[in-house]
Amino acid sequence: MNNNKIESLSLIPLRGITIFPYMVLHFDVGREKSILALEQAMLEEQKIFLPSQKEAKVEEPSQNDIFKIGTICSIKQILKLPGDTIRVLVEGQSRGKLKKYIQTDPFLKGEVEVLEDDECDRNNETEALVRSIKKFFNEYVKLSGTIPLETFMALDDIDNPGRFSDTVTSYLMLKQDKKQELIETYDVVSRLKKLLDILIKEVDILKLEKKIGLNVKKKIDKAQKDYYLREQLKAIQEELGEEDEDKKEINNYKTKITKAKLPKPVKEKTLYELDRLKNAGSYSSEGGVIKTYIDWVLALPWNKQTKDNLNIKSAREILEKEHYGLKDVKDRIIEYLAVKKVSNSLKGPILCLVGPPGVGKTSIAKSIAHALNRNFVRMSLGGIRDEAEIRGHRKTYVGAIPGRIIYGMKQAKSKNPLFLLDEIDKMSNDFRGDPADALLEVLDGEQNNTFRDHYLELDFDLSNVLFITTANSLDTIPRPLLDRMEIINVSGYTGEEKFHIAKNHLIVKKLKEHQIDKNVIKFSDSSIYFIIDNYTRESGVRSLERKIAAVIRKSITEMLEKDKKNIQITITKVKRYLGPEIFSYDKADKKDKIGVVTGMAWTGYGGDTLPVEVSVMPGTGKLELTGKLGDVMKESAKAGYSYVRSNAGKYNIQGKFYKEKDIHIHVPEGAVPKDGPSAGVTMITAMISALSNRRVKHNVAMTGEITLTGRVLPIGGLKEKSLAAYRAGIDTIIIPRENEKDLKEIPNTVKNKVKYILADNIDNVLDNALVKD
Ligand code: ADP
Repeated sequence: MNNNKIESLSLIPLRGITIFPYMVLHFDVGREKSILALEQAMLEEQKIFLPSQKEAKVEEPSQNDIFKIGTICSIKQILKLPGDTIRVLVEGQSRGKLKKYIQTDPFLKGEVEVLEDDECDRNNETEALVRSIKKFFNEYVKLSGTIPLETFMALDDIDNPGRFSDTVTSYLMLKQDKKQELIETYDVVSRLKKLLDILIKEVDILKLEKKIGLNVKKKIDKAQKDYYLREQLKAIQEELGEEDEDKKEINNYKTKITKAKLPKPVKEKTLYELDRLKNAGSYSSEGGVIKTYIDWVLALPWNKQTKDNLNIKSAREILEKEHYGLKDVKDRIIEYLAVKKVSNSLKGPILCLVGPPGVGKTSIAKSIAHALNRNFVRMSLGGIRDEAEIRGHRKTYVGAIPGRIIYGMKQAKSKNPLFLLDEIDKMSNDFRGDPADALLEVLDGEQNNTFRDHYLELDFDLSNVLFITTANSLDTIPRPLLDRMEIINVSGYTGEEKFHIAKNHLIVKKLKEHQIDKNVIKFSDSSIYFIIDNYTRESGVRSLERKIAAVIRKSITEMLEKDKKNIQITITKVKRYLGPEIFSYDKADKKDKIGVVTGMAWTGYGGDTLPVEVSVMPGTGKLELTGKLGDVMKESAKAGYSYVRSNAGKYNIQGKFYKEKDIHIHVPEGAVPKDGPSAGVTMITAMISALSNRRVKHNVAMTGEITLTGRVLPIGGLKEKSLAAYRAGIDTIIIPRENEKDLKEIPNTVKNKVKYILADNIDNVLDNALVKD
């Protein structure tokens, strides 16, 4: 080390940069002292010593502000720049160590020891270090993205490990203290080790940076990429001489809007949205939202109408042809048509068809549309609980769409369809607003010519729509809605009516659906009755329709398998196809029993019989109630119990039963609680029968409310209840006298077979229900 060469060289302290041997670099010199040093060097061997300043910002560094070790460089080129600055191109030659300053004025000069790298063998250790550095440097290059890849190739040509390390270092973006550290490490092996350490750390940091950057970038990238692609597409299209897609689309919309004959405000609003689309760009996400909106507006029937068929005769024919019975509904529709024909006004209450499922409410509505020559749309309100479902979401809401009314109008394709609102009784409400309020507006003839959907933000005229609603029961329909509607009861069918419906409609319809000629599969009348009586138990005809479809399917299969040309459906066939009978009214209790009475119930699903059982056992006077009993029914039972207690003597009830006996009332199948009161007579009869040991006639059914004094009060749903009792094979029905007026609604087929007994008080009931011994 000691016999190293010493040279006296001019010196320029570098600010913020560190030069390494073999590195070529240019920098600008502006300081007076530095320019002088440079000029001096140019006069001599064109060599200069370039150590770094400890603090870049020091303008006039003293000796202590300058590192002792730096690089001796040869000056390759100098260039005078405007304003006293000189640009110098230098190439590092070797490390140098400042021994002492020879002068500090007018420029710096010193004795510098030349530190050549030791000759260093490429032994295994250095080889391993060099390889590792290469590996990490490779990664560094990739991660940093600022160093050209060729740099990396060039490294392969360097044999000398010292030079290799300095070349690599010169490419790294390191803090100055790190660079200084590397320049001060003369020993090649230590320098390689240090460099490897630094590289590993830097690669780690870069990876982390990249990861953080990536997450942010990913978000921006997509939008940017789309933008670029779109621009590119534009450029390509222009190049090909094609019309810009965007413009084309917007022009398309424009033609559609002008051609659509929209009402003025609608047109204005749509054109305004189209303007916005131009600015937003067709492919931007906002553009998408605007397009959807315009599509919606264009799809609505603002001005399209179908022409009503006002020919009453042909309308009546269609209704009669397509449905059996349903006289009230048909009459009401014909009336409606007549009024419209005379006054040309449509305003009037909304029709509400109320009845159990499967009695043809939906299908008669469809028929009405057919008869009037109107388009038909149907919307179920079941389960709707949010006002927005009726009236739509505001456009600001992500993924907003119009409400179901506007949706229905789009489907209708005309502004005067028949719009069926199904299950209006199944609507509920929650914190998001009451859908019934929105519906009120829809159905209100005074308001609905300017129905405003939140999404459309435009008035839509609903006043030409014929709304018809359906419900299973009136109890849950909100009062204000109920007030706007005219109720038409569509009650259940008797067996005979079902027979006619099956024979003339259901079978014909199903055969048609299966594309079978009516002469190929023929149902005998008795087979139809057999299906009705033994495989269905309903007010409507839905499961009857399903059973018929099943029979037809099985017949087709049999015809194909057995090569038959046609098939006659008989009772035996029905049994084979549908399996054992499911219900059997004929086999219903045919014995008079003690404590068992047939009541009648009425629910949204139609009428049903409701057996009440009472048993009496020794005990302490407890009254126990089990089965599906609602609160009202329990109270009714207690009232009945009190009546029996206070009138025990009259009915030959022995002993103090209210102290010595427990009474158990059981209602095996329950009706809804509101039917409680009408089971009053049934429960008293059952109790008296059980306490007095008298049998009850098995063929009698009863219904009626009861007061504590034994008066029988009227009940509702007489027709449905009667039909159910009739279906169950009952031939005597005891009803409150006040319900006598309802008897006119009962179909004659029932009245002809069933004896009605009118009761004023419980004694009338007992006289007729209990078996006289
Ligand atoms: P709802 O709407 O009352 O639940 P649907 O209209 O769905 O009942 O009727 C069920 C099926 O029964 C339909 O196929 C319908 O055509 C048929 N139907 C019901 N009542 C009649 C009737 N009176 N005449 C002809 N077909 C009927």
